[in-house]
Parts: sequence; structure tokens; C-alpha cells
Amino acid sequence: MDSISPDTISRRSSYRRSVTPNRSLPARAAGSYKRQTSCRVTPPPALVDDEPDLPPSSGAHGARSAVTKAPLEAVAIPPPLETSLKKSESETHRSPLPCIPHLTEKEAREALLKEVSTHFCYGKGAARDMAITEIKHSMAFHYTLETFTEKRTTCWAFEPYNGGPVDRPDSGEAPFPWDIPSSPPSYFTNHAIQLEVPYTASIKVCHVCGGPGRKRCSTCSGKGYEYCFHCHGDGTSSLAMRTATKDCLHCTGSGQRKCWKCGGEGMAVCKVCSGTGQIRCFIRLTIKWSNHMDDHVVERVSNLDDDKIRNVSGEIVCQEEETTVLPLTHFPDMTVSMASAQLLQNHASSFPEEKVLKQRHKVSIVPVTSVRYKWKNREGLFHIYGFEQRVYAPDYPQTCCCCCIL
Ligand SMILES: [Zn+2]
Ligand SMILES: [Zn+2]
Ligand SMILES: [Zn+2]
Repeated sequence: MDSISPDTISRRSSYRRSVTPNRSLPARAAGSYKRQTSCRVTPPPALVDDEPDLPPSSGAHGARSAVTKAPLEAVAIPPPLETSLKKSESETHRSPLPCIPHLTEKEAREALLKEVSTHFCYGKGAARDMAITEIKHSMAFHYTLETFTEKRTTCWAFEPYNGGPVDRPDSGEAPFPWDIPSSPPSYFTNHAIQLEVPYTASIKVCHVCGGPGRKRCSTCSGKGYEYCFHCHGDGTSSLAMRTATKDCLHCTGSGQRKCWKCGGEGMAVCKVCSGTGQIRCFIRLTIKWSNHMDDHVVERVSNLDDDKIRNVSGEIVCQEEETTVLPLTHFPDMTVSMASAQLLQNHASSFPEEKVLKQRHKVSIVPVTSVRYKWKNREGLFHIYGFEQRVYAPDYPQTCCCCCIL
């Protein structure tokens, strides 16, 4: 089943018009098959055509010019304005920042020793014997915003018609795409489903075979045979040529073999209509749920990479979930509040064709401990971050030569 020309629209009135079938278009025999002029796709020859003759476009092009510019692609239907960007009514309770447990000198040394043991060429002596001269505790903030949206697109689709009832436009009124009920299987994860829009189906003569359900075999171009690749078409065994002329065993000297695909008939079953000669056209609605995530890291003391902070666990100190959340305004660190406002503003304008179903944001506090040390008259600094107590010690003083080179 393939997606095809999306002659669909963003407004309810013209949407209905676009799905009205062309009643003046009876099923045609292969020889008389031709396209309507209202269909803007150039009609290729009957046997190589790759698009069916769809129900015609509405004449109201001006009213839906925004979507008719790209007739060969799925068209996004913007959500009704009244249902998007609904602000949450009240701020939820935001608790004060908790105290992060501080590491002792012994714990810092143990964390470093553990890190050293994961490096083959690091010596443990420095970590064991170094004099720790200063320990500084700080917090990194990791703000995360997620916006969960729904996007609806429509396009024409078709599939082989094997008989059975057809949900035609004259049996009822096709609903506006956003009026078709559907809800995501879960929030904040990506999903997609495809549905057929009711009352948009019609039956057409297959645009590829023109009705017979069979078409010229593409492998042999309808000849029924192809050149024997064993003898390259000359009918002679290449092995036998060195001694005496002998017919090729694979084609008995003809240089040709029956086409493997059509068995010599030159015709093959049309894949588009599965041999039925007819296709069912309908408007397909695709609903895509997407989770858009952005984040911001605030870390001032140790200048650790943001990715290091992102990849360790912290303590969640603020978490809210609403249809649309409000920016954090009274977070103790102003930079976090500013990042929250900025990211929310970005998300408010970044998905104009999508409906926001839910938003959530959170702030995690990641503990960072910076440790100064002295070992054999060398001074250095390493950092311990996250509740996993990961260690970042880029200038560890006791490494072997190969590591120094690296
Ligand atoms: Zn066909
Ligand atoms: Zn041969
Ligand atoms: Zn063939």
C-alpha cells in the first residue's frame, strides 16, 4: 500500500470538497485510460504510471493554497487554535533546595582510588599518598523541558481493491482531521498511527495496469526471455571454446533463457492492484506524537563539560507537569529561571503545526566536589560529580609513559 498525492486541505469546508469523487469518471478499460486535467500530475504511459487517477481537486485553490503547493507530499493540518497553548492555571508547589551531602576527605580519596583502578596504567600510589589540601562543594543544575505534541497529516493513499464495502463520500460527511478521536498510547514517548478518514474512499481502475491486473514484465521488458548470462548470449560454452565448439548447457545454444520472473509469458501480475485491476483510494490520516526535549546545565565552579553533568544522576528538586507549564520564576539560581523561560519560549514557537498535549519540566541538582592535592611537590585538582561519584582527573600525576603521550 503506497502513499500518494495528498490533495487534502486545512479547512473543514474545502476538505469536504476535496474528497468528493469525480462522478463523471467511470472505470475505464486499459486502452482508453487517461488522466483528468484537474489532476496536476502529468500522466505517464499507462503501463509505467505510478499514481492513480484521484478524486479531483476542489476549485477553491485560493482558500487552501498553503497546502496545494506540495501536492505530492503529506500535508500537515494545523490544530484548531482554541485547543493549543492553554496555560496552566496555577503554579504547583515548589519546594526549597535540599542540602546535598558533602564528601569527606576519606570519601574523596576512595572515589579517586576507584577511578584509578579503572585505568590500566595509572599508579595507585599518588591517590593513596597525596595530601588533600582543599575540598570545595558546589551544585550543578540540570534543567530539562519536555513538550509532548501531536501532529496530524493527511495524504491520498491506495491499495488493491478485492471487493467488499466502500466507505464512499456520498454515505456520510468526512470529518475534519482534528475531529477524529485518538489518544496516544503513552505520554512523553514517540508514537505514530495511521487511520483512514471515513467517507473518503472510492474505487478506481488500476493506474498501472489499466485494468487487466497484469502488466508487461519489467525484467524482460515483455519479451519473455533474457540473455543467458552463462554464455553471454552467444550460445557457446566458454569452457568448450578452447577445445571444440559446444552448445551452452544452460540455454542449449540459443543464447537466451526464459525470463525467471514471468516464466516466458512477458506479462506479470500487477503488484499495485494485486491482479484485481482495481484500487481503492482514500485519504489517510497520520497521527504522530513526538516528545521534544531540551535542557540546560548550569555549572560554575569546576567547568566540567555539560555532558558529564547530563550523564550522572542528581536529586530532582522541582518537577511539574501540565498542559503547558509556566517558567520557573523563583528558582534560587537565576540562570536556571532564565533558561526555563527561554526554552519555554522556544518551544512555544517551534512547533506551529503541532498541538501541545502536555509539558513537563524538572530541575536536578548534581553534587560536584572539587579536590586540590599535593603529591611529590606537584599540585593538582580533580572533581567528583553525581551521586555515582564519578571522577574527572585529567592531570592525574601517576600515569605511565604511554598514557602521558596520549
Ligand atoms: Zn494493476
Ligand atoms: Zn547460454
Ligand atoms: Zn519476464
